[in-house]
Amino acid sequence: MTTIAFIGLGNMGNPMAANLVKAGYAVHGFDLLPENLVIAKDHGVVIMANAVAAVKGADVVITMLPAGKHVLSVYEDIASKAKKSALFIDSSTIDVESARKAHAIAARHELLSIDAPVSGGTGGATAGTLTFMAGGSKDAFAKAEPILKPMAGRIVHCGDDGAGQAAKICNNMILGISMIGVAEAFVLAEKLGLSHQALFDVASTSSGQCWSLTTYCPVPGPVPTSPANNGYRPGFAAALMLKDLKLSQEAAQSAGAVTPLGAEAAQLYALFNAQGHAGADFSGIINFLRGTPA
Ligand code: NAD
Repeated sequence: MTTIAFIGLGNMGNPMAANLVKAGYAVHGFDLLPENLVIAKDHGVVIMANAVAAVKGADVVITMLPAGKHVLSVYEDIASKAKKSALFIDSSTIDVESARKAHAIAARHELLSIDAPVSGGTGGATAGTLTFMAGGSKDAFAKAEPILKPMAGRIVHCGDDGAGQAAKICNNMILGISMIGVAEAFVLAEKLGLSHQALFDVASTSSGQCWSLTTYCPVPGPVPTSPANNGYRPGFAAALMLKDLKLSQEAAQSAGAVTPLGAEAAQLYALFNAQGHAGADFSGIINFLRGTPA
């Protein structure tokens, strides 16, 4: 039986690990937070004393951690202890440079590796419908694809080392900018006496159509499943949107790309977060733009 070590059993990691258990894998898990280990145990994950113990004998190692520094420190600890030719999959959202460093650590120990960040949030993690954006060699991807399947709705091989992270931050830069654009249009419509539904009916079938409008509408009513109908509870928290926009701006700077709207979106989300809305859904930025409480 294939054994998978799962390190980082938080809001995303725990439901992802649960889907691997359901698919019949032996999952050996570790997290620094005892309360997350209790949840994982209930899902059938075998709890290990530390990350090194979790990777011993594992065929595949999956990490789902907060940021690049956590991934690199865990990789440094575990890479030399892993089974030769084990596959390392990092699904955390991290900067491209750290992702490439993580691949280099794995290569130094003759391990296969892919970066495979996800979109779809905790709902997608629970339903097993995440989109995985993968970067790494063809061999590593071929080995990773069947492992990712029980957690995935869609798996895209984006290119070489770091390409998954690059795709993720480019996508989320579009999302942050488009949400602000849609929110601004609703705020202007209100001032012009145009109803939310009328703007939605026109824009959702016109050239203003986009995901932020038709799937995740930032005002209550037109799309009943959007967080606006639920007090802007996440969903996708504003803190995570800010994290991804900052990553996009770091990447733009180091690659020499000009992204003025990405920079503006990062600033607006920084202000929204600083006003105490880090835990609110990112579509709540409409209340900030309107000057009303989220
Ligand atoms: P989380 O904070 O709930 O989980 C991260 C877990 O990592 C925590 O339980 C923490 O204790 C653990 N951890 C940190 N350092 C560790 C170490 N050295 N060893 C073992 N465990 C360690 O965060 P999350 O929401 O699960 O997000 C995880 C990653 O997925 C992040 O990179 C995030 O940006 C990304 N992501 C999150 C979402 C979302 O909607 N939550 C969506 C897409 C991507």
